[in-house]
Amino acid sequence: MNYKKLILGGTGVLCAAAVALTFTGGKSMAKQQLNTKEKNIATIASYTAAGDMDRLTDALNRGLDDGLTVNEIKEELVQLYAYCGFPRSLNAITNFMNVVRDRESRGITDPVGVAPTPLAPDADRESIGRETREKLTGAPFNAAYATFTPVIDTFLKEHLFADIFARGVLTAQEREIATVAALATMTGTEGQLAGHIGIAKNIGVTDEQIAEILAIARTPRDILFGLGAPNDANARYFSGPSYLAPITTEQMGVFNVTFEPGVRNNWHIHHGGGQILLATAGRGYYQAWGESPRELRPGDVVNIPAGQKHWHGAAPDSWFTHIAIEVPGENNHAQWLEPVSDAEYSKLK
Ligand code: MN
Repeated sequence: MNYKKLILGGTGVLCAAAVALTFTGGKSMAKQQLNTKEKNIATIASYTAAGDMDRLTDALNRGLDDGLTVNEIKEELVQLYAYCGFPRSLNAITNFMNVVRDRESRGITDPVGVAPTPLAPDADRESIGRETREKLTGAPFNAAYATFTPVIDTFLKEHLFADIFARGVLTAQEREIATVAALATMTGTEGQLAGHIGIAKNIGVTDEQIAEILAIARTPRDILFGLGAPNDANARYFSGPSYLAPITTEQMGVFNVTFEPGVRNNWHIHHGGGQILLATAGRGYYQAWGESPRELRPGDVVNIPAGQKHWHGAAPDSWFTHIAIEVPGENNHAQWLEPVSDAEYSKLK
């Protein structure tokens, strides 16, 4: 991986606290996936933007467990006020404070991490912000709203792209990953999302990484029975991560199953009793052998007779959750067969 450090803001001694942006060279890393740190940053941004404090608590704990520093998370939550507003940011910061205190009370000492590098009070924020924004976007800025209401453009330059970006701690890519995740979580911000996907790509975030951020940001928030635990017992029969939350195992087995985007199970057959699927969140597919795939959305029901060869799973770009009901029968068991080929699956939208 080629890291290149650019020091911006060479406008004299006033900005000796340099604005340091770290860029990666993009083209050679077309298949690069998000690393653990970046996934945690995206997840934290998404739950902050959603205002989902329960899941944010889990995401903050996971981020700290995985090695994010206290200062990295603080910087992310501070930056997010520019995109989700003070209310969401302050709620998340208060939540984070409680998470850190709770961990301290449990004897966990999380690393504080490197300190931010704020601009000097008399730094030329207008120039620093303009240069930073041009580096990020790869082009001179020219939006009609900036002419109509110049003060908002001044605030964007002096505050967001100078004060906040100058603080370091997070790289420019990490900051854009947080921004894209937040904007993808919110509604009505499609224009800004498109703009920031463009910025992210311009500074080296790959198409695959963008797809992962969007998947994280669009995890169904409405999983009625919870995500549950990684579906380890059946992992070898699934094309990627899935999650299992048993709803009840009395009288008959009823399970909540959630598939990450693009994940499906192998072709398989339920013997003894059949299976009923109740789609509850996201978008997915069911296909019976010899038939066309059927798109599934919340509220759709699939009746699968015993002996029917089939598969089910998520759409390529969406999480998917269904309740799976094991219809009682004699000697119930699943017979797992070959994977759904990429050639077949890639035809699905
Ligand atoms: Mn099945």
